Amino acid sequence: MNPIDLIEKKRDGGELTEVELAFLINGYVQDRIPDYQISAFLMAVYFQGMTTAETALLTALMRDSGIVLDHSSISAFKVDKHSTGGVGDKVSLVLGPLLACAGLYVPMISGRALAHTGGTLDKLEAIPGFQTNMSMSNLARQLKETGLVLVGQGADLTPADKKIYALRDATATVHSIPLITASILSKKLAEGVDALVLDVKAGSGAIFQDTEKAWELAQTLVQTATQFGLKSSAIITAMTQPLGQAVGNWLETREAIETLQGGGPDDFRDLTLVLSGQALLHAGKTATLSEAIHLLQEKLACGAAFDKFVEIVKWQGGDAAVVEKPDSYPQANFSLTIKSDKNGFVSELRAREIGVVSMSLGAGRRTMADDIDYTAGIILHKKVGDAIQKGGCIATAYSNNETSLMENEQRLQNACLVKIEATPRPELIYGAVEPDGKKFWDGAKQEFRETKPDNS
Ligand code: URA
Repeated sequence: MNPIDLIEKKRDGGELTEVELAFLINGYVQDRIPDYQISAFLMAVYFQGMTTAETALLTALMRDSGIVLDHSSISAFKVDKHSTGGVGDKVSLVLGPLLACAGLYVPMISGRALAHTGGTLDKLEAIPGFQTNMSMSNLARQLKETGLVLVGQGADLTPADKKIYALRDATATVHSIPLITASILSKKLAEGVDALVLDVKAGSGAIFQDTEKAWELAQTLVQTATQFGLKSSAIITAMTQPLGQAVGNWLETREAIETLQGGGPDDFRDLTLVLSGQALLHAGKTATLSEAIHLLQEKLACGAAFDKFVEIVKWQGGDAAVVEKPDSYPQANFSLTIKSDKNGFVSELRAREIGVVSMSLGAGRRTMADDIDYTAGIILHKKVGDAIQKGGCIATAYSNNETSLMENEQRLQNACLVKIEATPRPELIYGAVEPDGKKFWDGAKQEFRETKPDNS
C-alpha cells in the first residue's frame, strides 16, 4: 500500500477502508509514514470529511494505539465528562468530587492549557505538590479506594491521538468534526468508562464559534459513542463570555474550592450541576435531571464534595492546607483594574480575547515547553447583563510580569464592553444531544425536553 494513493483517495472524496486507515494511522505512530504525508491526509479529511463508518474506524484505531484501561474489578458505574474547551472552565474540579461522593467512579484523564483555553491539569498543579502523573497500578488503587482520580494522559494512553493532535495543531486541521470526534472518543474509550457526558461549547472562546457547528459536533460525538456501546449525552453550552468569574490557574482552582464549599458564581455552579446531573442519570441514580441536581446540591451544601476534593488532593501529594485556607496562597506581584467609562450595563466580555490576555499574562502557554505563572489571570467583577456605574471595576488582571500587564491593559479594556442600554443575561445552556435525538433546555424546570420552552 502507498500513502500517496490513500491521500489521493481521500482528497478526491473517497471512503477509506479499515485496512487503509490502519495502514496510515499505525504507520504514522510507528514512524513509517512521515509528518508531511499525514499532514496532507489530515487536510484532505478537513475538506472532504469522513463517513460515519470511517469516523468510528479512526476512533477505534486511535483508542487501540495504546493501552485500554480495564476497571472491570470495580462493579460500580464509571463515568467521565469532557469539555471541548473554553475560558474559565473549571467544571472538572467540582464535577469529579461531586460525582465521587454521589457513589460514581470517575477515572478522569485531562489535558493542559493550549492557546487561549485553560487545562484542568495546570489548574490542579497550581496546588503545591499535586501530582497528575500516576502509574496505572496507583491509578487503579486510588480509583477503587476513593472513586476519583484526576490525572494526565501519560505516554501509554492513545499515543496516536497525542501525535496526530500535535500535527493538527501545527497544520490548521484542528477544526474538523471527524478528527475532533476520534480524538475525544479514543481517549474516553481508552479510559474504560460506562458513560460520558460531553460539554460542547459554542461561541468566541470555543472550538466552534458557530452554534450550528457545535450541534453537528455534538451529534457526531453521541452517534459515534453509541456505536461503541458507550452511554453518552452532549450538552451545547455558551462560551461567548468566560465561565464563572475567574480565568487563570490558581484563580480558577480557588473559585472551584469556593463552589465546592457551597458558594461560587451562579453560571459556573449551574452548569456543573447540569453536567454532573446528566452523569447521575446515565448511572440510573435518579429518574429525572432535576432530582439529580437536587441530590448534588445537597452534596455541596453538606460539605461532602469539598471533603472529597481534600481527600483527593492528599492522595495525589497536594498541599491540603492551601485548599483549606486559600488565602494563604501567594498573590501575583502586580495587578491592574479595568473600569467602566460610563453608567450602563456590561454588554460583552469577549471570551477568546480574555483567554488570550490571560495567557499573555503568564496563565497559559504559547508552546508546550513554556512555564506557567499559576497566580496570573483575570477576575471578572461583573458578568454580561450586570449594571455598572461609571468608574466601577469590570475586571482585575494579575501577573508577576509587570510589562505584560501594561502591554495587555488596552486589549483587556477592549474585550470588556459596556452599553447604556440594558443587556439581557445570555443563555448558558442551549440544549442537548442524546442517543434518541436533539433536546432543548428548560431552565425553569431544570430539564431537557423535546420542544423549545415558550420563554425561549
Ligand atoms: N479536544 C480534544 O481532545 N481533541 C480535539 O481534537 C479537540 C478538543
